[in-house]
Amino acid sequence: MRAPDYVEAIIAWRAWFVVADEEEIRLSSLVYKNVWVPRCELVASCQRRVFCFPRLWRKKPSEHPAPTEECRCGIYGARDAEHAAAYLTNDLWRDEPLRWPLLHRAIGRVSLWGSVVECKQGWRASHAYPERIYLPTRSESGEALPQLGDLAAALSAYGVPVKLIDGDLSMVGALVVALKARAAAR
Ligand SMILES: [Zn+2]
Repeated sequence: MRAPDYVEAIIAWRAWFVVADEEEIRLSSLVYKNVWVPRCELVASCQRRVFCFPRLWRKKPSEHPAPTEECRCGIYGARDAEHAAAYLTNDLWRDEPLRWPLLHRAIGRVSLWGSVVECKQGWRASHAYPERIYLPTRSESGEALPQLGDLAAALSAYGVPVKLIDGDLSMVGALVVALKARAAAR
């Protein structure tokens, strides 16, 4: 079953890694390690692998367009900042090693469009692009990040607002309060 097409983008919350992809500073997805390319929409593909009959030990990629109602594929966006922020600190992403040096983590708003499936915590979409990027001023261990200004400047390549947000990733609750205050002040 195909998901309905949305004409206007949905704006959702989302978290990213900030990674060094060779010389470039980029956003990366947390669970599947896709780099988001500046000024280029991210298009979903289904990364689930299905058993292939009759050689059941061999798995092949599923071939449906992402997302579908039945699967878990698509680019995720959360309805609430809390849910997106929880991804910054949970361990789900550790299943698959990161291919690039991890510099920082970011939270922000994402535009989702194309084919969109509504799910419990938000949406899964076929197309996505960052809408705004927030960089917490301190790392998970509470340390100030000296290169923060450089990271923010490099992420301006995405052509969307990049803001620093006072907070510490180990205190997601406080970070979310700060994010909501920012969003309300827009
Ligand atoms: Zn799928």
